[in-house]
Amino acid sequence: MASKRIEITGVVQGVGFRPFVYQLAQEHHLMGWVCNTSAGVEIEVEGKEEALERFLLDLRAKTPPLARIESLSAAEVEPSGYDRFAIRPSRAQEGSYLLISPDIATCQDCKRELLDPSDRHYRYPFTNCTNCGPRFTIIEDIPYDRPKTTMRAFTMCPKCQAEYEDPSDRRFHAQPSACPVCGPSLTLTDAQGRKVPGNPLPSSAHLLKGGKIVAVKGLGGFHLACDATNEGALKRMRERKRRPAKPLAVMMATLEEIKEHCQISLEEARLLISSQCPILLLPWKSESTISRAVAPRNRYLGAMLPYTPLHHLLLRETGRPLVMTSGNLGDEPIAKDNGEVTRLKDLADFFLLHDRDIYVRCDDSIWMVEGSPQPLRRARGYAPYPIHLPFLAQEVLACGGEEKNTFCFTKEGYAFLSQHIGDLQNLETLDYFEESIDHYKALFRLQPGIIAYDLHPEYLSTKYALEVAARSNPRPHLLPIQHHHAHIVSCMIDNGVEDKVIGVAFDGTGYGLDGRIWGGEFLTADLGDFQRVGQFEYLPMPGGEAAIRRPYRLAAGYLYTLLGEIPSLPFLAEIDDLEVEVIMRQIDKGLNAPLTSSCGRLFDAVSALLGVRGEISYEAQAAIELEMLASQAEAQGSYPFSIVGQRGVSVVQLKELLAAIVADLQEGISTPIIGLKFHETVVAIIVEMCGRISRATGLKGVALSGGVFQNRLLLRKAKEALRQAGFTPYTHHQVPTNDGGISLGQAIIAHSKMRSV
Ligand code: ZN
Ligand code: ZN
Ligand code: FE
Repeated sequence: MASKRIEITGVVQGVGFRPFVYQLAQEHHLMGWVCNTSAGVEIEVEGKEEALERFLLDLRAKTPPLARIESLSAAEVEPSGYDRFAIRPSRAQEGSYLLISPDIATCQDCKRELLDPSDRHYRYPFTNCTNCGPRFTIIEDIPYDRPKTTMRAFTMCPKCQAEYEDPSDRRFHAQPSACPVCGPSLTLTDAQGRKVPGNPLPSSAHLLKGGKIVAVKGLGGFHLACDATNEGALKRMRERKRRPAKPLAVMMATLEEIKEHCQISLEEARLLISSQCPILLLPWKSESTISRAVAPRNRYLGAMLPYTPLHHLLLRETGRPLVMTSGNLGDEPIAKDNGEVTRLKDLADFFLLHDRDIYVRCDDSIWMVEGSPQPLRRARGYAPYPIHLPFLAQEVLACGGEEKNTFCFTKEGYAFLSQHIGDLQNLETLDYFEESIDHYKALFRLQPGIIAYDLHPEYLSTKYALEVAARSNPRPHLLPIQHHHAHIVSCMIDNGVEDKVIGVAFDGTGYGLDGRIWGGEFLTADLGDFQRVGQFEYLPMPGGEAAIRRPYRLAAGYLYTLLGEIPSLPFLAEIDDLEVEVIMRQIDKGLNAPLTSSCGRLFDAVSALLGVRGEISYEAQAAIELEMLASQAEAQGSYPFSIVGQRGVSVVQLKELLAAIVADLQEGISTPIIGLKFHETVVAIIVEMCGRISRATGLKGVALSGGVFQNRLLLRKAKEALRQAGFTPYTHHQVPTNDGGISLGQAIIAHSKMRSV
């Protein structure tokens, strides 16, 4: 007889781990117990020596699909003479924490029952089991037990209770388990909150088919839904949401249906049907019947599959693709509570509600596959599962940036990157940011002694960091982090790289060490430090923010600055002569014309110059439309540029580039060809600059990061060209290349700086 005490950490709660242990113990004729603790799972087993060995091997080899073992330790203990194997009640342990499962898309078994008229879960919109269902969004605290979730409001009926207690059942200890008798239910109301009589699901489907906009309460918040093939419904939704052009996501019932509208690779299919079930940007077929108004001028369609029973039923019932966009106004966070319906009452005609509270807001995640998969927004299905670090880190809170904000905590070998929070420009989002930080602190038992934040003095995340530090005792160490260094380090960690690299950080805006707006930067960087060794030349943004919203101001300003005049070109036709005068005066006098080295702004300027997009209604619209046109063209070479050394920094000069584009325009060369040649030029600039830096430093690894690398044409070509030139390019796989990833970089830089203090 032998006996062992086993401690396991990882994602081991709410994923069918204890029944798995129970069954394994039965199989090997072992006695003892298993229990959840706030650190993970603890097991004591006793029996024959060799049976114990096989049990230990099977624990790792046969782990349930959604469980992830992070560590497993086993120690000999004195046998206690148990006469059975039991599942003991959960225990809380002071100070310990565990990894919490993200929400998981409906599993195949639950889906089968959902559509089986003989099953008691038939057509029940809230069915789930240990392998699927809500997790992170309903958990208030750990250990993960029903009373600590928003499901505590529902008392299980005898049948559900029996399944919950039966270790051989798929719903054994499934905390959110529910059925039509005892669980949450749906209501349909109109915009005035009056209940619509009848069965909510068929009624909602009927309304959607009739072109109505229905707000649907889902897993991590509300969606606004409408028929994706109905132009009129889309037009109304866009008007009400004040989103004239920003792409919207579409949910479709099956993979087969998505294939009718989009091209799907094997890799993409795998992601679509995964338990994370993200929105995936897919090449959009020209014969698709989904209205182009869903994503005007875009070659890609954001598509996803249903991920809750409610969505499965709604999609089947409606029988057509549905736009499913975040239920929020403008840049506010996604609405989650029934009480927030008033916020949405001007957006939706009807509300499909349920009475299971959402504790944590969580948007849909967005991914793309360009060579390999990468997230553009990391939220539902991924958060709060951590990114693994190649080393142990101190406890740091990194507050992230301003747009597409996420925050990040590091602890031991983990980086807990928050779900997408959003743009921290309004009070509601700031509240969501602060609440979420407090929630992560409580859940993961965090007490960070170091706070990292962006160097930008005006970011609300910066102000938050300073305020929190001021009222904390003891005072945490405060570390401002340069934006582009954070981008590059986030990419390094994403790839497990710790050695110095060349960093190419291209984005729209980031506060520079010199107080100017950076965004076209070449760095040599390691995890703690960086040097800016190259940049795009500084050019003025006439009118500041106005130039970002109206890229024709950039085009005019860049021409005037670089060529000394604004040649007569078609794009000027839409601009008031007076505005052109103002632009020139702002530049001449250096008044309200901040200088930037931003590569994002260069894309905007070229887009406007070509007459593609002079005024934008959503971020990066001009650059995106330019990319879409350029993707249609055949290779035609690139434009000239030059690089000059200025005080040890290589500066990319853009005069020849702009002059050559103007010449092509005057010769009547087509917009897609000029657009493609421009993309090729940016690639050539990257390769030439990396060559120079490499010759001086010997570095061969190149990290590509920043929002500009969401441009798939540029990303693909830059990677190819760098490989051909003998470099090893690193791109993103786990965290976004946009500002949604910088909190990870901030945390790691702060950790590294403090380690060397
Ligand atoms: Zn299930
Ligand atoms: Zn029940
Ligand atoms: Fe950025």
